[in-house]
Amino acid sequence: MFVECKKIPIFACLIFSMSRTRDTYTIPLQSLKEGVFDEVLEIGKEFIEAQKMEGVFDADVHAKVHFVKQKNLHTLSIVMKGTISVACDRCLDVFALPIEMSQDMVVKVGEKNDELADAENVIVIAPDETEIGLSPILYEMIMLSIPLKKVHPNEKDCNADVVSYLKQSANKKTKQETTDPRWDSLKNMFKN
Ligand SMILES: [Zn+2]
Repeated sequence: MFVECKKIPIFACLIFSMSRTRDTYTIPLQSLKEGVFDEVLEIGKEFIEAQKMEGVFDADVHAKVHFVKQKNLHTLSIVMKGTISVACDRCLDVFALPIEMSQDMVVKVGEKNDELADAENVIVIAPDETEIGLSPILYEMIMLSIPLKKVHPNEKDCNADVVSYLKQSANKKTKQETTDPRWDSLKNMFKN
């Protein structure tokens, strides 16, 4: 069993092999005779904890999985929508961040050193593979959907006490930094 693709980083591939015992987030390739596999997967706290998603505390996400099985080349598209609980960068409170993400992929049956293995959005699976694990893909999609700056959509929802405290301590810091060291030494001279 192996998974080779540029889109999925090594850490996700490792999780792939670790999550093999779970079958909630898999496409049963072998039992799926032909045609289409459509399913809506629920991503909640259990998934977040199992995947050890750093900085994500909870999730309420639906992932629509559309898989078309063909002879040697399958197509997989996932549309994800919902909210994940993360800490606000402005006030540190945990809030529900809306996320939306979609990804189209090609699943190719081939060997480990397949020329397509390095291509983007291509997953190469072994010919004897019986299922396709979706956990690393879902993990990656959630992580990619988190913006660099994650804050309460409405600033008024931020924790006012924390915001004013952080502002105060930031001001204090700038004041300290803007003190001219030459004045400090003069002051010390007078003191003596
Ligand atoms: Zn906030």
